Amino acid sequence: MNIRQLKETIYHEFGHVIVYIISNKFEDIFLSKIDRFLIGYKNAVCPKENLYYYILGETNQHITESSKNIKRSISWIILQMSGCIFESHYEKRDFKNYFCNQRSCSGQKDFDNLYYFRHKSSFKIEDHDIVRIRENYIFLLNKHDIFNKTEKYLDHFLEIFDNNAYLNFDKDDIETLIDEMESFIINEELIHDYHSMISMEAKNYTQNII
Ligand SMILES: [Zn+2]
Repeated sequence: MNIRQLKETIYHEFGHVIVYIISNKFEDIFLSKIDRFLIGYKNAVCPKENLYYYILGETNQHITESSKNIKRSISWIILQMSGCIFESHYEKRDFKNYFCNQRSCSGQKDFDNLYYFRHKSSFKIEDHDIVRIRENYIFLLNKHDIFNKTEKYLDHFLEIFDNNAYLNFDKDDIETLIDEMESFIINEELIHDYHSMISMEAKNYTQNII
């Protein structure tokens, strides 16, 4: 992996971490703590608790149950798209090149997660809803200059880790990462705007009668 690919990969994962940081500021959209941050053999941000992720071969009733919290579910949908949103911004290429159902797509797993979620969700969410959620989220990221701030933090991060392409963070490392990202990237206005956006969006859905 060359340095540019490494930056692209970590930038994608930072896109996921940012949503955890913001969402976890609130009780009503709390997603789960981050358990692992992995770069290299596998690139992933893993949650402690599985609220929405499908498990192959199982009924995945937990997804239907978790989706009854519509606000939190919308934040989780953003979480799935955020990695590819950051990566596509970084590479100046269309989101669909990353968030797709091909082995070559860096967001294949994220795409699949959202696909299964929609299948098991207790409320109906259409393609045009997903597009609107994405656009509103990108608007907020631009409004608060989050792409640039994240890139600056990424440079700092890579310097500290000496461009190491294999990272495996848990516990204290994750705490430090979150604290640093908060001070470099996140501000109170963004946190506030994010929650307002989620609350507005949630009004578009009603739970299916099951
Ligand atoms: Zn991802």
